[in-house]
Amino acid sequence: MSVQVVAAKMAEVELKDVPNKELSAVSPVAPKTDEKVEPAVKGDPSPLSSAPSTAKIPQASAMKRPDPQQNGGEAFVNRDGTVAEAPRMKKIQFADQKQEFNKRPTKIGRRSLSRSISQSSTDSYSSAASYTDSSDDETSPRDKQQKNSKGNGDFCIKNIKQADFGRREIEIAEQEMPALMALRKRAQGEKPLAGAKVVGCTHITAQTAVLMETLSALGAQCRWAACNIYSTQNEVAAALAEGGFSVFAWKGESEDDFWWCIDRCVNLEGWQPNMILDDGGDLTHWIYKKYPNMFKKIKGIVEESVTGVHRLYQLSKAGKLCVPAMNVNDSVTKQKFDNLYCCRESILDGLKRTTDVMFGGKQVVVCGYGEVGKGCCAALKAMGSIVYVTEIDPICALQACMDGFRLVKLNEVIRQVDIVITCTGNKNVVVRENLDRMKNGCIVCNMGHSNTEIDVASLRTPELTWERVRSQVDHVIWPDGKRIVLLAEGRLLNLSCSTVPTFVLSITATTQALALIELYNAPEGRYKQDVYLLPKKMDEYVASLHLPTFDAHLTELTDEQAKYLGLNKNGPFKPNYYRRVAVRSL
Ligand code: NAD
Repeated sequence: MSVQVVAAKMAEVELKDVPNKELSAVSPVAPKTDEKVEPAVKGDPSPLSSAPSTAKIPQASAMKRPDPQQNGGEAFVNRDGTVAEAPRMKKIQFADQKQEFNKRPTKIGRRSLSRSISQSSTDSYSSAASYTDSSDDETSPRDKQQKNSKGNGDFCIKNIKQADFGRREIEIAEQEMPALMALRKRAQGEKPLAGAKVVGCTHITAQTAVLMETLSALGAQCRWAACNIYSTQNEVAAALAEGGFSVFAWKGESEDDFWWCIDRCVNLEGWQPNMILDDGGDLTHWIYKKYPNMFKKIKGIVEESVTGVHRLYQLSKAGKLCVPAMNVNDSVTKQKFDNLYCCRESILDGLKRTTDVMFGGKQVVVCGYGEVGKGCCAALKAMGSIVYVTEIDPICALQACMDGFRLVKLNEVIRQVDIVITCTGNKNVVVRENLDRMKNGCIVCNMGHSNTEIDVASLRTPELTWERVRSQVDHVIWPDGKRIVLLAEGRLLNLSCSTVPTFVLSITATTQALALIELYNAPEGRYKQDVYLLPKKMDEYVASLHLPTFDAHLTELTDEQAKYLGLNKNGPFKPNYYRRVAVRSL
C-alpha cells in the first residue's frame, strides 16, 4: 500500500471525526499514486546545495569520525572545521559483532569527550528546553537498573521518575503538532506501519515523542537513541520509557555512551529493524559499519539533516547505498518553514536571550536576502528596527528594495549599525576590516549554516581581548576599549541560542512519518537504491494537514480551471522546480 493510498484512506476514514470547519480546510489532496517518483539529483540534493555553504560541508570521509575501534588521544575535526578536544577513552572492542563498551568515563571525561561528536546534528533542530538540566544525580544511567510501572526495563534513561513531567511536555507539544495528531485520527483502524520496526536516532524532545507515539499508533515498533549528546529532554525520555518505548538517551552523554545507546537500539536478539529514521547519519553509519547484514531486512532510510543527506548522496554516488533513502531535508514545506518562518521567529528569540537588546529604532544590517534573510528582515522591521540589506544577486536585491529595505554595501553602514546579521551561506561576508570599523557595542551574529560567514578567526589576535559575558556571548575588546558583542562565536545563532517553534518541527515530523509510510509500503521496484525526495503531492499533503489549525479554507479547482492550468484537481499543484521560483517571489 503506498503512502498516497494510505493517505487517501486515512482522509476517508477520518472525515467524519473532524469538525465541519476543519473539513473545509482539509484539501481534497488525499493524494493518489499517479506521481512519478524520481531520485533526487545525485550530489545536488537541493538548489541550496549549490550554495557555497553546503558545498563546504566536509565530506564524511574527510572527517575524523570518532572511530570506536581507535584509542582516543587524537583531535577531531568538527563538521564546522573547528578542532575539538581529543577524546580520552578506552578502546571499544568489537569482536564478532559483540561490543564491549568503555567503563563509564568520569563526569569530566564525559564532558571533554562530548564536543567531538554530534556535530552531525547541528543542522537539524530541537527545542530542547528541559526542566531537569540541573539534576544532581551523577550516577550514569548505564549503572542504574530502572523499570517502568509495568515492569519493563528495556530502556536506559536518566530517571524514570520524571515521566509525569515529560508527559506534560509532550501534551504541550501535541497542541502545536496538529498534522501528526490528525494522522493518528485518520489511522483509526488502519495501521499503515503494522510490522514496521523503526530504529530512530533523532533529538529526543517532546516533539520527537509526539512523532514516536504517532508511529506507534500507526502500527510501528520503535527503538530510539539520541542524535545529539546534549539535546535529550530527560523527562520526555522518561515519559516515553514509561509508555513502553525502548529509549536509550540522556542529556550529557559521553561519546562512548552515544554509540552505546545507538548500539542498544539495533543490537538486540530477536529484534531487527526494517526502517531507519536518522538525523545526522550516525545511526546509518553505525549499521553500515557494524551490522551491514541488517540491510537485507531494511526497507529504507529516512534522513532529516543536511549532513546526513549529504552522506547518503555520497554513498549513492559510490554505488554503496544498499536501500532506498528519502531526503526529508529538502522537502519543499520543510525548507520553507525552516528557512523563512522559523528564522522570522527565532532571530528575535536568539538576540533577546543573549543580549536582552531592544529592537525598536535599532539600526540593523542583514547580509543576504534569501529566505533566511527575508525572515530576519521581516521580524526586525516589525519590531521597529531600521533595516539595511546587502545582496550580491540583483533579483533578491530588487526584492529587498520593493519590500522597503535600503540596499547598501556593508562598508557604507558598518560604522553606524547596532546589529550585524549574516545569512548568505557564503564565507567571509564580515571580515576583520568590517569588525575594526564597527561602533562600540555592535552585536554581531550569524544565521547561515556555517560559521565561516563572519571571519571569527581574524579576531583571535593578541591585541584583542576576549571576555566571556554569558553562555554564547563574548565581548571582543579592542585596545582603545571599543568592544563588539559576538554571539555563539559566529555559529548559527538560533540553533545555538534559542529554541525552534514546535510548529516548524511538526512539519518535519509529519514529513518523516509520511516518508516512512511511503518507503515501508512501496511496492517492490518503485524505489531503487538511491536517494529520493518525498513526492510533491505528499509535500502538499503535509501542508494541508496543518491547515485546519488556522480554520483555513482551501479553494478547489473547478474542472474547467484544472483543464485550463493543465493540473490534476487533486494536485500536485506546482511543478517540482517551484521552490526555486518561490524563493524569488517571496
Ligand atoms: P538563499 O540562497 O535563499 O539566500 C542566501 C542569499 O545570500 C542569496 O540571495 C545570495 O545571493 C546572498 N549572498 C551570497 N553571498 C552574499 C554576500 N557576500 N553578500 C550578500 N549577500 C550574499 O539561502 P537561505 O535559504 O536564505 O539560507 C541562507 C543560509 O542560512 C544557508 O547557509 C542555510 O543553510 C542557512 N539556514 C539557516 C537556518 C536557521 O535556522 N538559521 C535555517 C535554514 C537555512
